Amino acid sequence: MKIDKLKTWPKIDEQKPLVIAGPCSAESEEQMLAIAHQVKELDKVQVFRAGIWKPRTRPNTFEGVGMIGLPWLQRVKQETGLLVTTEVANASHVELALKHDIDILWIGARTTVSPFAVQEIAEALKGVDIPVMVKNPINADLALWMGAIERFYTVGLTKLAAIHRGFSSAEKTKYRNLPIWSIPIELKRNLPDLPIICDPSHIAGNRSLIAETCQKAMDVNMDGLMIETHINPDKALSDAKQQITPTRLTDIINNLSLRNEFSEDKNFEETLVKLRMGIDKVDREIIELLKMRMNAVYEIGQTKKDSNITPLQIGRMDHVMRERCQLASKIGLEEKYIEDLFHVIHTESVRQQTKIMNNFTPVKDDNEE
Ligand code: PEP
Ligand code: MN
Repeated sequence: MKIDKLKTWPKIDEQKPLVIAGPCSAESEEQMLAIAHQVKELDKVQVFRAGIWKPRTRPNTFEGVGMIGLPWLQRVKQETGLLVTTEVANASHVELALKHDIDILWIGARTTVSPFAVQEIAEALKGVDIPVMVKNPINADLALWMGAIERFYTVGLTKLAAIHRGFSSAEKTKYRNLPIWSIPIELKRNLPDLPIICDPSHIAGNRSLIAETCQKAMDVNMDGLMIETHINPDKALSDAKQQITPTRLTDIINNLSLRNEFSEDKNFEETLVKLRMGIDKVDREIIELLKMRMNAVYEIGQTKKDSNITPLQIGRMDHVMRERCQLASKIGLEEKYIEDLFHVIHTESVRQQTKIMNNFTPVKDDNEE
């Protein structure tokens, strides 16, 4: 896939991060213009966002002003020169948004989960050269996210971006939507040109976590931030708890530490290459050790099979976990890290032993008898 860089989007300059700000929902023309003029003054914001059609989890909550909000966005554009973006969730939204010169469209998390809806929107955009930002689906499913991006690419759109807005999780966490940074990173590995934007507002769900989430996004080298901003956040008709004032937005943006992915400094690059050679060597050793461990696992599997014993023995698993975590913490590694790692290692051991029980012959090492 050949995706265009952000700087090729009309009127977007290279300033990093690309900041998209504006209210969760368009509420009135006055509200929109007041916010837009304030964020314009910050000189850091290039795109103004506002939801016109709001996908809400529960009925009988504010579902957006609908198409009457589109001329308000046009007025924001005329008065401030900011680019404007809104969410579209079906073909008729697309048609109306295009008619009102909306510069950039975004696909909401509840839409990305539905291939039918995404396909309908993609087809409505066939032959139109407009940037589209695709939010991650509600559930942590990289393939579904990629699939939506591919549907837009297939109809000819090349100005695409992804927005990480966190994932819904059954576990209670401090976030409204749990950020799983490895998923957008994996997306970037698959599509290196795809710009990735972070939406700290929907990740955080409350004002106090916005700044640290923005910094985290910068630390993993994301290209932009979409931050819900309101002149009177407490009175917002949707997502009140997570919206911030334009003043707070300025503070957050000004306090970000921005680092480069590459350095011009030759000494630094040489040191990095050397250190990475060390890591590469250790990683190879880890893989060889894992193979040695797996050979022992096969032998145990065979022995268990001969004695008709189940592959999974909870007591043993518990012992392995506890013992490895204690050792790790003694030598200064975080227990949670080793616990997660051994969870993966142990699960794979049980899976391999289950295969042995079902008469599968393991692949032996070349050096083995
Ligand atoms: C929004 O951006 O206001 C929104 C509805 O977001 P999401 O689709 O990420 O829930
Ligand atoms: Mn919102």
